[in-house]
Amino acid sequence: MSATIFFGLRDTLASVTLSQDGRRVEQIAAFDYAVESLEELRAEGARLGLVLDTAPAESSDVLAALQASGLLANFNPELIVFGSMGSPRVFELAAELSGAYLAANHRLLFTSVDAVERKFAIEAGFEAVPHPILALPALAHPASFRYLRFRVPPTEGHAEWRAALRKERLVPFHVTKEEVYAISDSHVAARLDDLGFWVDRLGAPDEPLSHDLYLLRDDLQMESGFLQPDGNSVSVFLRRSAADRVLCSLSGGLLVSIPAGRSPDSFHFHGARHGHNLKLLPSWTLLDVHAPELSLRGGPTFFAESTLAWRLASPLLAAVVTLDETEKAKLTGSITRELIAGFVDRYSGRSAPTAGGRLIQSRNVDHPDNHFAVDVAADDLIRIGAGRLTVRRPTLAIGGRPFENIEAVLPAQGLDGIVIISAHLDSTGNNDPSYRGHSATAPAPGADDDASGMAGVIGAALAILALVEALPAKPRREIRFLLFNGEEEGFHGSVRYADDQRQQSAPIVGLFQMDMIGYDAKPGRIFEVHGGSSISADLQERSLRLAEIVKACVPLVSSGLTPPQVYPGDDHSDPAEQRSDHYSFHLRNYAACVISEDFFPGPGLAPSPDPNPNYHTPLDISINDLFAADIARAVAAALWFAATR
Ligand SMILES: [Zn+2]
Repeated sequence: MSATIFFGLRDTLASVTLSQDGRRVEQIAAFDYAVESLEELRAEGARLGLVLDTAPAESSDVLAALQASGLLANFNPELIVFGSMGSPRVFELAAELSGAYLAANHRLLFTSVDAVERKFAIEAGFEAVPHPILALPALAHPASFRYLRFRVPPTEGHAEWRAALRKERLVPFHVTKEEVYAISDSHVAARLDDLGFWVDRLGAPDEPLSHDLYLLRDDLQMESGFLQPDGNSVSVFLRRSAADRVLCSLSGGLLVSIPAGRSPDSFHFHGARHGHNLKLLPSWTLLDVHAPELSLRGGPTFFAESTLAWRLASPLLAAVVTLDETEKAKLTGSITRELIAGFVDRYSGRSAPTAGGRLIQSRNVDHPDNHFAVDVAADDLIRIGAGRLTVRRPTLAIGGRPFENIEAVLPAQGLDGIVIISAHLDSTGNNDPSYRGHSATAPAPGADDDASGMAGVIGAALAILALVEALPAKPRREIRFLLFNGEEEGFHGSVRYADDQRQQSAPIVGLFQMDMIGYDAKPGRIFEVHGGSSISADLQERSLRLAEIVKACVPLVSSGLTPPQVYPGDDHSDPAEQRSDHYSFHLRNYAACVISEDFFPGPGLAPSPDPNPNYHTPLDISINDLFAADIARAVAAALWFAATR
C-alpha cells in the first residue's frame, strides 16, 4: 500500500520564532522526535508533504529556515503547500497536489497536534493523526485514537511503570502522581491492559481527532470538600445538555472535551478563580520530567538534569539577600508609580500607544487587537533595549491561528543559567455572561489582569538596564523578559515556550511570574508569592527559595509594603498552584513562582483576601499604581539578585 502523509509544522514538528518586528521567520527548531519520525515513515515508503501558513513571512524565508532546521530534506518539494490553516482550502489544495500519486489503496493522511487543523483536513478528505509519533502505527495498522487514562494497581510500586509507558507510542497531555492521561490508539491500550495497567478509555473512539481537552477546575467543589454537594457539574453540564462533553472528574476538576475551535468560555463555572481553565496540550516532555520518585525513574538523564538544576541554583540557595546602595537607588529610581501607570494605560486602552493613534481595546486572542498589543509591547522592549536586548517572537497556534509570545534576552556574562521575569499579555472579559471576545463592543481592558504584570516586566527591563549601565558588575546569568500569549485560554503560550525550552534542555534557574499585581482595597498593602508545587519536594524547595528572595527584597526596595504572604504555608498547600504561567514551567521541572495581589485565601489563618471585583470583566480598567510599582520593584530586585549572585 502507498501513502502520502502531510504534516503541520508549528507545534507539531518544530517551534517557529519570528524576528522582533514579526515579519521574518528567524528560526525553525525541530523537536527531538521530529526527524526520526519522518525518517521512519519514509523508510516505509510514504511520501511526505507539509502544509504551512506563511503569514506574516515570505515563503522563501520559511523554506530557508526549514532547510537550516534539518527538516526540509524529508519532504517531497512538490508537496510543500502554503496557505492559511484556518480553512479547508489549503488542505483541498494539498489533496489535489497529491493526486498525481493516487493509486488504488493509496492513503492520504494529515498529522498535526492542532485539532482545528485536523478538522479542516478531515473535511478535505484526509485521515487525521494527532501527533507525529503516532503516524507510523497509523500507517501500519489503522486503529481508532482514544483518550486514555493509565493507573497502576495500588499494590504495585511505582518503580518501573513510567519507564514502561515511555517506551509506548503515546502522547501524554496530563500527568499526576498516580495517573497518566494520554492520546494513543486502541492497540497501545490493549498492550497496557496486558501489562497489568488499569486502562480507562475515555470518550468516544476517534474523539481526540476533532476535539480539544480542558481541565475545568471546580473551585466551588474543592472548597466545600468531599461529600459536600457543592460544585458546578449539575448546573453547567446538565442544564446545557452538554453532559457528553465530560470525560471524567479528577482531583480539582472535570476533564472536558470540546469540539475543535470552540471556546470553553461557554461553560462558565460559578465561583471560579483565575487560571481555572487549563487547556491540556499534548506534550512530549511531560512524561520525561514529571517524576516525583526521583531515585526510581528516569535513569541517567533525569539524574544529570536534577543535579544540574541544583548546581545552578545552589549559590542562590545559600546566599543572604542583600543589595548595595547603588542597586537600591537604580531599582527605586527606575520603577515608579508613574512608569507603571503609563504602561498599564497604554496596554489597557486608556491611552493611545502612539500620539493620536488608536487604543488597544482588548488583548483577548479572539480580538484583532491581540496582534496590535503584541506589536506595541514588542516595540516597547526594542526601544527600551536600544540594541542591548535581543527581542524575538516565539510563535504558537491556537485553534489553527498563529499567535506570538514576546521574548527579550540580556546575555549572560560568566555564569550558567537563565532567570526569567514574566507576565501574560492576553486578557478576557468572560466573567461577564454577555462577553464575546471577538466583538469590538466587548472590550477586555485587563488593566489589573495582566497589564499590571506587563508593566512590571517593562519596569524590570528598564531597571536592569539602568543597573547594567551604572555598575561594573554585570548580570552573570542570562536574563529573559517574557510576555506570554493565550494564558486565559489555558496557558497556551507558556506551555509551548516551556516545552520548547525543556526539549533544548535550557538551564532555567527560576521564573518570576507577575499576574495581577494592581488591586488593593483593604488596608495592609498585602500581596502574595506562591512557590507551591505538589510535583516534587525538590521542585518546591527551589521554587519556594525564589519566593523567599522576593520576600527578602521587600524591605530593601519597597519598605511601604507588608512582607508578602508566602505559599505554601503551614498547611503545605498552595491555592495558586497550576493557576498561572509558572505552572507550565513546574510541569517541566523548572523552579518558578507567581506573584499577585491578595487574591487567594490563606495562608493558614490569614485574614480573608482582597480579590478584585472587576476580575475578568470589561470593568477591569484601572489599578493602584503605587501598590503595583512597589511589588514590581521587589520582583525586579529578586530577579537582579538571582541573576548576579
Ligand atoms: Zn491573569
